[in-house]
Amino acid sequence: MAKTAIQVDDMVITYNKGKSNEFNALQHISAEIFPREYIILFGPSGCGKSTLLYTMLGGIVPESGHMYVKGEDIYAYTPAEMNEYQQATIGIVYQQFNLISSISVLDNVALPMIFLNKSVAERNARGSDLLRRFGIPQRLEDKLPTNMSGGQQQRVAVARALVNDPEILLADEPVGNLDSISAEHVMDSFKEINEKDRKTVILVTHDAKYLPYAHRVFYMRDGVLRRVAVNAEKEQVKRVKPGETIVTEIEKLTRLYPYDEPLTLKVKSVVNFVTQTIGFRQLERLELAILEILKGTMDEGMFLDLLRRPSMQNGIGMSMEESVQVARRTFGLMKYSHDIERFRVEAHSDDMFLHQQKFIDRLLEYLREEIGLQSTPQQLQILRIAVADRVGGIINADDFHQRMAMPVAMGGADYAEHNAYLLARYMEKLIAQGAYTIQQNELVGSHT
Ligand code: ADP
Ligand code: MG
Repeated sequence: MAKTAIQVDDMVITYNKGKSNEFNALQHISAEIFPREYIILFGPSGCGKSTLLYTMLGGIVPESGHMYVKGEDIYAYTPAEMNEYQQATIGIVYQQFNLISSISVLDNVALPMIFLNKSVAERNARGSDLLRRFGIPQRLEDKLPTNMSGGQQQRVAVARALVNDPEILLADEPVGNLDSISAEHVMDSFKEINEKDRKTVILVTHDAKYLPYAHRVFYMRDGVLRRVAVNAEKEQVKRVKPGETIVTEIEKLTRLYPYDEPLTLKVKSVVNFVTQTIGFRQLERLELAILEILKGTMDEGMFLDLLRRPSMQNGIGMSMEESVQVARRTFGLMKYSHDIERFRVEAHSDDMFLHQQKFIDRLLEYLREEIGLQSTPQQLQILRIAVADRVGGIINADDFHQRMAMPVAMGGADYAEHNAYLLARYMEKLIAQGAYTIQQNELVGSHT
């Protein structure tokens, strides 16, 4: 096996040691990272990602354990050795760019070379090259960084981190402050630095959408490295055991529920198996289709087509009968959610009462049809009031459910418990869909 770029050996990090607010931010972390790997440290805020990254930079002395970089214990370095390590072996990019606002863009990039005694000409040439490479035009070199967009400033920071040609590049939430287009540019830069420049990249993020960039993902929680997942879609640097790169259902579930523990994911997998007739591959396709429907770019006919098409031809593979049912229910839900949306908008207008009545009548009819519910006029009357109260936000989901199940004497509709449950559940689906409209900017790229 190749030598490790970084080896973390049973490392503990304690903040405020000996004080009343002593805190173990990292608990016995052990890990190996190999040269030219792209590793993502992933987990919710406060789990210790930045702490682990800064220990690699030589910035936080471990309470116990060791941090080896290229086989050397960096916390055994003399101050001079540590300086050299931080100048030449490792580079870092922060979320907040950390550029010096009083000097030019070019000087910002070239600055780290001063400490390595490079000539002005050499510094400027190298700085310019890197800036061009990351898409910063020459005319901006003499400007102050504050004149640039966030995306440009971050690309300057990336250029600066690379100016001394370090073997290892660290990045702490580098796109956390950027809009999605700039974020993509910057993420592509890291990919290129890893693939073309063959540098080891270790990037911190709490956003699951970036996980596909990494060779391996380190999942962290509460200061513990919970598991390491191999990204099967990337050719691995580290040799993996047979079977380790197969994209399992658990990996797919991880994308859907990024912060869940492996055990919870296994539970979800079984629940899917016993409650759904379709598997995860089909479920993913179905999710994409529903997104299209919500955006308005897929109509009922196209949806029906997808549902019926065999799984082998990228469809869902449902029977004719099942497809018609699913399409009808899906579009029914959408239609009535629009009613809820309108209802909420019109709640402030003068003829609200009339609209409410019409809306509730239609909704009741649909609920009855959907659930196949028999009701007495008295039950309908109570249902009608409860629906109006729930849509109007006067009662919550549990109140609605209770009111459906309670005896008439207590002001309830006295539906059988199962029907009360179905009514409440369907009501919440409608409200969930109707309460949130897709923003115009989320429609960019969708064909109409
Ligand atoms: P993450 O980057 O995953 O959000 P951090 O590594 O920044 O997490 O922090 C991990 C935990 O350590 C958090 O609970 C944080 O409050 C605490 N922490 C971080 N830095 C310090 C510090 N300098 N002093 C005391 N506690 C800290
Ligand atoms: Mg952090």
